[in-house]
Amino acid sequence: MKVSLRKTSLVDYPGKVAGVLFFPGCNLRCPWCHNRELVVGGEDGLIDIEEALGFISKRKQVLGGVVLSGGEPLLFYGLPQVIRKIKSLGLAVKIDTNGTNPAALEKICSDAETRPDYIALDLKLAPSRYAELLAEVNPQSTPTVSEKLLHGAEFIKSSQIPHEYRTLALPNNFITAKDIEELAPLVDESPWYFRLFRPGNCLDPGWDAMEVPGMEEANALAHKAKELGKKGISPTGGRY
Ligand code: SF4
Repeated sequence: MKVSLRKTSLVDYPGKVAGVLFFPGCNLRCPWCHNRELVVGGEDGLIDIEEALGFISKRKQVLGGVVLSGGEPLLFYGLPQVIRKIKSLGLAVKIDTNGTNPAALEKICSDAETRPDYIALDLKLAPSRYAELLAEVNPQSTPTVSEKLLHGAEFIKSSQIPHEYRTLALPNNFITAKDIEELAPLVDESPWYFRLFRPGNCLDPGWDAMEVPGMEEANALAHKAKELGKKGISPTGGRY
């Protein structure tokens, strides 16, 4: 298995200096995704997972944690072993997920040795629109991707693992207050960050030419979430 490694980050794990492992592959195809190579590309820039873990191990004195991101890290069958290894170094683990693989999430959370210390859940559009983002559409699929997201979000809420939610303001009002209304029930009082889409290397190159939304668009989404009684709203936050 190969991954991409960010050796040091001050913005990917709240309150910790972290290394970040990016796992290739994703079950979604968000057209604005700026990790095109990770989602559909080859192995350029990737290193063996053992090499990446070796580097993390050498740096364990300066790191507080490791972020497992992607792509979608929960699709990687060897994730439990990776988490065990990181935790055995005394480092905390954060998972960045799209929330649509709840079985894998529940599996790692059910074992103290693989239970993440922090989860960031990306909420992209109204759950009823997630089929628009699927890499492979199978109308017979049960449960549907929307049902999986609802299940994943409900599990995170009840997990007692510290977590946050992240939503992007997208060009051309691709996400609107109506999406926020549908997403709001998935969210508890944990932080919900609203950030701006940024063009460059988008999965759908057509999105690179789109006008970047302004802070007012992010603020409008955040305002809607506040109106709906959500407490942990932030229109800024760190890197997406
Ligand atoms: S934005 Fe995230 S969920 Fe969407 S395609 Fe990219 S890696 Fe997958």
